[in-house]
Amino acid sequence: MPQNYQEYARRIRGYADIAEVNEYARVVEGGVEYPLFRLTLPGDRWLVITSGFHGEEPAGPLTLCQYFEDIAVYARERRVGLRVYPCINPSGFEDGTRYNRSGEKPNNDFLRYETAPGVWKGELTRDEAFLRWALYEGGPKETRAVRSDIARYPAPAAALDIHQDNYLPGAATYAYTFGDKAPFRRHMEAAAAYARVIRNEKVDEVNRTDPDGLIEYNDGSVTDFFLRSGVPFAAALETTTATPLEACHAINLIWIRGFIDLAARGGNGST
Ligand SMILES: [Zn+2]
Repeated sequence: MPQNYQEYARRIRGYADIAEVNEYARVVEGGVEYPLFRLTLPGDRWLVITSGFHGEEPAGPLTLCQYFEDIAVYARERRVGLRVYPCINPSGFEDGTRYNRSGEKPNNDFLRYETAPGVWKGELTRDEAFLRWALYEGGPKETRAVRSDIARYPAPAAALDIHQDNYLPGAATYAYTFGDKAPFRRHMEAAAAYARVIRNEKVDEVNRTDPDGLIEYNDGSVTDFFLRSGVPFAAALETTTATPLEACHAINLIWIRGFIDLAARGGNGST
């Protein structure tokens, strides 16, 4: 589903009256220069929202653009600060392709694990032990740009990454999460009104969901990075691309509001 990023950028810039709109970098893909945006709303505790790592997963970037004002009101009422990276891979978004126009893969590549002396890996198998992790320094230009911007700030109270699944059929949802599962189960129950929750099923060659539609997977992604940075609530939400856009918006907003509530609660043991 190709999108118009120029129009998208115009709408994001239009939020300058309710949030700080910054270009954290620009990338050139196929001779076209793309501004990369961060929307910042001040608050006492912080939520970071990322979306659009994969270009053929437009729902997250579209929810954040279309509903930003509602999201900002909800966050402000709870004194939660937002840092929103609404569309991380604009050339993929524009072309409707998973990767960027150079064919690089902007997801993952936030960190590496040393699993044995001198052996560094991007993902851990289930329960695999490791010696240490380190922020990765390479990767696609979009990843380097957002990673260095995110890493400039202290770890937030919560972090939500919004994806879609372009492989599984039908209107469905599941999530990759770290931390206490109780609030995530509530989000999933609310989301079940809009799409089938994928429970106890394989989602790919590596992962299967638990009875609540949740997966834990250390994949070197931004969510994994936030886990390792001590963020108590970190998740990557998935709706299938076969899910109608209005249902995706509803599910994304359930999780966005839920994560604002979690950030307001504070995490890290405070109440
Ligand atoms: Zn994705």
